[in-house]
Amino acid sequence: GPGLAGALALIADVPDFPEPGILFKDITPLLADHTALTAVIGALAAAGRDDSGRPVVDKVLGMESRGFILGAPVALALGVGFVPVRKAGKLPRETYAVSYALEYGEATLEVHRDALEPGDRVLLVDDVLATGGTAKATMELVEHCGASVHAVAMLMELGFLPGRDAIGDVPLTCLLTV
Ligand code: 5GP
Repeated sequence: GPGLAGALALIADVPDFPEPGILFKDITPLLADHTALTAVIGALAAAGRDDSGRPVVDKVLGMESRGFILGAPVALALGVGFVPVRKAGKLPRETYAVSYALEYGEATLEVHRDALEPGDRVLLVDDVLATGGTAKATMELVEHCGASVHAVAMLMELGFLPGRDAIGDVPLTCLLTV
């Protein structure tokens, strides 16, 4: 609706951040606006509901760091708990870890081993789908837990990158393609 379009219009383009040639999408003006934030959280949470509006996921997973900001209120909207997926070395107890290639080098994501029950259905939430490396690694973490990814919900998708292919057959909701 117009509420959601107005919300997405608050995302700011920042040229040459964090390095020359990168056009960074800054979501902080959207986060700072209660009406916009409400519209976006509602739209992301819809990916965790069935056609009649009933929540169908057991947990929401958010990827560090902006996936935390968006994922926790999505979990509250769905009436389920939130699970953080963190960069290596941040979680204090036993974890599963998955490493994946970055443009330069490698990154590792972790989740607590007991964060999900086998058979849990989860919704992944993050702000930006770029190459899809983060989402794919998170999907592997969910598999390690014996749980399954019901859907992936992203605020925006960089349409010129193949992130969608990395997700495979899992339903993908992106509120905005840039
Ligand atoms: P991917 O793994 O799909 O290549 O990158 C996605 C991750 O990078 C997300 O966790 C996202 O937060 C971050 N990211 C990449 N580009 C941008 C950007 O332009 N703006 C923001 N806010 N995050 C970005």
